[in-house]
Amino acid sequence: TPVLTNPLRPALLAAARSPRAERGITRMPVTRRIVDRFVAGESREAALHAVRDLVRDNRFVTIDYLGEDTVDPAQADATVREYSAMIQALAQLPTPADDPGVPSTHGPGMLLAGTSPRPLEVSVKLSAFGQALPNDGHAVALRNASTVVEAAAAAGVWVTFDMEDHTTTDSTLSIVRELRRDHPETVGTVLQAYLRRTEDDCRAFADEGARIRLCKGAYNEPEAVAFRRKRDVDASYLRCLRILMQGKGYPMVATHDPAMIEAAALLATSVHRGRDDFEFQMLYGIRPAEQQRLTALGQHLRVYVPFGDQWYGYFVRRLAERPANLMFFLRSAAPG
Ligand code: FAD
Repeated sequence: TPVLTNPLRPALLAAARSPRAERGITRMPVTRRIVDRFVAGESREAALHAVRDLVRDNRFVTIDYLGEDTVDPAQADATVREYSAMIQALAQLPTPADDPGVPSTHGPGMLLAGTSPRPLEVSVKLSAFGQALPNDGHAVALRNASTVVEAAAAAGVWVTFDMEDHTTTDSTLSIVRELRRDHPETVGTVLQAYLRRTEDDCRAFADEGARIRLCKGAYNEPEAVAFRRKRDVDASYLRCLRILMQGKGYPMVATHDPAMIEAAALLATSVHRGRDDFEFQMLYGIRPAEQQRLTALGQHLRVYVPFGDQWYGYFVRRLAERPANLMFFLRSAAPG
């Protein structure tokens, strides 16, 4: 039975965490060109350029400053500073709603009383904020995350916490719950459908009225904690989707899978969710035509825009996801 869609997935996901593989792959001259398909650039300015284009095209955005697995407190501090600077820059951007010539894409939300979806968001990996530091990693990550959430709340920018491998899930969800106490509308989190625990997590967060980004999951997880066959992951995704759509929160449907997208649209209609009561999300550079199709239908579609020079782990997870991405990379890398 295939392990998800790609038999090379476990090997690639191991390479995503190997410094030796990183040195090899990042030095290949061809890599840069292919990385550019998935990453908006290395600088804040390059990311803002991509953001302006997307917002002008009526898409929502979430910005990710690339980096993960930090065990250096100074690097975690630098990451927090970059997020704070990015949030300030985002707050200065004109959104389509500010332009009287463009019809507003965000009316009053039905389920998040008094609020409407924010077009601008940042996505944060807690392992880049010091979560993996020995001894006090959890506390350091909470403090750093709190700094960013305060800045984002003041600027009207949302924050969603990415989900990493399963050893971090409890720590991440406890930080999310702590931050949601003061900022229930600003703070949301990712849940990964491939984890066996996620249906229960969806139920709890849907009851709390939380903003949840549901994705399939991108790490190499053991059978004991995760579904590993594509059809099991997909079935779990659909069960989770139903719980979130029927719940009190704001579901963010993060997938490129046509079957999941169609199911989400049908479920939303069946529970009378309007366009402001859920959204679709896709990664930068993946299925841009589908992104535009959903926006043209009047749905909210948010693009996850990664930037920065620490792109290696993110890039290799994208190769692991899809044999076609990997083949494209290998063909370009082949001599002659
Ligand atoms: P897949 O099962 O990979 O693909 C299903 C089908 O979708 C394919 O058969 C094909 O028909 C179509 N498809 C997929 N890619 C393409 C393509 N490039 N071109 C054309 N068709 C395509 N993972 C985490 O573990 N933690 C996170 O915090 C996280 N955050 C994410 C945030 C966002 C906004 C998104 C979109 C994904 C995130 N992911 C995260 C990654 C996610 O877990 C999956 O690894 C990734 O989205 C691939 O799964 P999929 O749902 O797109 O479907």
